[in-house]
Amino acid sequence: MAGAGDGATGGGVSGVMLITGGSRGIGAATARLAARNGYTVGINYTSAREQAEAVVADIEGAGGKALAIQADISDPNSVERLFHICDLELGTLSVLVNNAGILETQARFEDITADRIDRVFAVNVRGAFMCAREAVKRMSTKHGGAGGAIVNVSSAASRLGSPGEYIDYAASKGAIDTMTIGLSKEVASEGIRVNAVRPGIIETDIHASGGEPGRVERIGPTLPMGRGGTAEEIAETILWLASDEASYVTGSFIEASGGR
Ligand code: NAP
Repeated sequence: MAGAGDGATGGGVSGVMLITGGSRGIGAATARLAARNGYTVGINYTSAREQAEAVVADIEGAGGKALAIQADISDPNSVERLFHICDLELGTLSVLVNNAGILETQARFEDITADRIDRVFAVNVRGAFMCAREAVKRMSTKHGGAGGAIVNVSSAASRLGSPGEYIDYAASKGAIDTMTIGLSKEVASEGIRVNAVRPGIIETDIHASGGEPGRVERIGPTLPMGRGGTAEEIAETILWLASDEASYVTGSFIEASGGR
């Protein structure tokens, strides 16, 4: 599979892909697939160092190149440090996968606190915005860059609203969708494509952090396809949006949600 655009190579055959939240779940599956497709991969994590290093070891064991980089993306200074390390250690950035995201325990709307909203938005919105900003600074032809692609990991929650579970989380993904539309238009003539995937119910740890580890088993059978999705299925979508096969696609959303 081809990379993010002519000249957008920075170490591997397909260039450098930085994945926020690459230690587990969708991010880890994306890192493994990206490496198989020839990317050099930056794997950001915040606390799961061993899991991030295990993804790096898998990639290196298969002959690829990857680096685990600790950074809490809710901290703007850490985001700058993350991109600086990526520049120094991996080379010219060609793809950002804005994947890191959190949710909190399932709750009704009237029980959602101000502090909780701040925590969710600090990672899912402000963090993703700051990462996209750093990517644009490096990729935009306006700043001497070679172009590239940004893939935002939104959620089907942005259009479903997550009633009774986490409307704060759903709204944070709504903000990501709006950023995808606006930024895609702002940088379309500067060699950067900006798209998003909206996963549905995917088998990862995130449901445990919402207080229901068995959520995929509960909801999966009720979906049109009769099952939840896998992190690998979302990774395939992300890699396509990042690739030259999607060269005329920007400001678009792929529903990877089993028909939900
Ligand atoms: P996950 O298994 O819980 O993994 C979350 C990843 O994000 C981990 O690598 C975690 O790092 C990282 N992370 C969390 N906070 C961070 C921070 N402040 N700074 C840097 N990294 C941080 O989640 P997932 O299910 O793979 O979700 C990935 C993305 O898909 C999220 O944006 C999520 O909203 C979205 N999504 C998931 C589903 C689903 O059903 N799973 C559905 C729709 C959308 P550590 O390992 O260090 O904690």
